[in-house]
Amino acid sequence: MTTTVLVLGAGFGGLELSSRLAQELGDQVEVTLIDRADAFVFGFSKLDVMFGKRTLDAVRLPYREITTPHVRFLQETITAIDPDARRVTTDRGTHGADILVVALGAEYDVEATPGLAEAGHEFYSVAGAEALRELLPAFRSGTAIVGVCGAPFKCPPAPSETAFLLDELLRAHGVRDDVRIQVVIPFGKPVPPSPATSEAILGRFAERGIEFVPDRRVAALDPATREAILDDGTRLPFDLFLGIPVHRAPAVAVASGMTEGGWIPVDKQTLATRFPGVYAVGDVTSVGTPKAGVFAEGAARVVADQLIARIRGENEPPGYDGTGACWMEFGDQQVARIDVDFFSTPGHPTGTFTPPSDRIAAEKVEFGVSRRARWFGRGAG
Ligand SMILES: Cc1cc2nc3c(=O)[nH]c(=O)nc-3n(C[C@H](O)[C@H](O)[C@H](O)COP(=O)(O)OP(=O)(O)OC[C@H]3O[C@@H](n4cnc5c(N)ncnc54)[C@H](O)[C@@H]3O)c2cc1C
Repeated sequence: MTTTVLVLGAGFGGLELSSRLAQELGDQVEVTLIDRADAFVFGFSKLDVMFGKRTLDAVRLPYREITTPHVRFLQETITAIDPDARRVTTDRGTHGADILVVALGAEYDVEATPGLAEAGHEFYSVAGAEALRELLPAFRSGTAIVGVCGAPFKCPPAPSETAFLLDELLRAHGVRDDVRIQVVIPFGKPVPPSPATSEAILGRFAERGIEFVPDRRVAALDPATREAILDDGTRLPFDLFLGIPVHRAPAVAVASGMTEGGWIPVDKQTLATRFPGVYAVGDVTSVGTPKAGVFAEGAARVVADQLIARIRGENEPPGYDGTGACWMEFGDQQVARIDVDFFSTPGHPTGTFTPPSDRIAAEKVEFGVSRRARWFGRGAG
């Protein structure tokens, strides 16, 4: 008997889930994977594009290259989800399955920050990163703010990485002394679960003359005065604002009635939602891990392994452990690694820091290469 699985969203979570199910189960499963986009782009590749290190063409992974048997990719926009019936409506039709997995990620609410669209730039979307790639080379003096407009946001180290990469770019252009860089983050430390990581970042900020504004969120930009208005009313003048916009679950997930407090609640161990046969993984959930690809992927593996065990009649595999490793750019091709554990001590995530080295930089490259191979059947490149 063939189990049908409908996967909504072909990001980290959806791609990992689809490829693992198909590779392990063969013709015991038929996966339909739906995404409105025509290509996947790693989150970290957006920084490469923004800072002119790689072209968009070089980092796009077109979904048409998915050749995994038993995975059918459909480029369609999901317009409604009925979790009771495990059916979805798209701009092209309707689809149903035995198992439904929601992996729709988080989207950006630029309008939630007044002035951001007029006076600032977001770099979290591919389009935003592309636009900045054209603008950044012309930025030669003044104040640059890397500012977070709301939490939770994807990849908590990304604002700090952006500041390091901007510092590197400005040094390469010989104009670093003419630019002030400030980083506004709504946490007391850059990466709260890992004090050693935060210490390393703050140490490098001090060396590089990057100013850290902790415990503050950018609430609005004033386009007339070109000031960032923080959540305590402080005004910071800027010439260039690089913003992390407010995140929210995609509207179609909210309209489905699956969300509570903005995100889809799931069982922490199994990623099951309250709807029978319906799971949710990754950024769209409130599972309690950061919004990052490695966590979306880890959660997807757990769902896949449960389904594989059930279909094969094997014992239930271990539940989700809430651990993950992130690689972090320190500029000048230096990459460090952060290992975090969100579930072992409830309410007290812990993390370890491995300082930048060539070995860690090679690990990050290997991370991307292995996913390209697993999800798209691609070799190195
Ligand atoms: C600048 C930046 C740097 C980052 N760096 C890292 C990093 O170094 N390491 C790391 O682990 N994470 C990193 N991330 C975070 C990472 O990209 C996300 O957390 C991850 O992609 C989440 O995976 P997901 O599967 O939950 O959602 P996504 O990968 O966002 O996938 C969701 C998919 O759903 C699709 N979708 C949404 N709505 C619809 C709809 N209505 N119809 C059809 N399709 C729809 C979208 O097109 C998308 O492809 C970074 C993010 C950014 C922005």
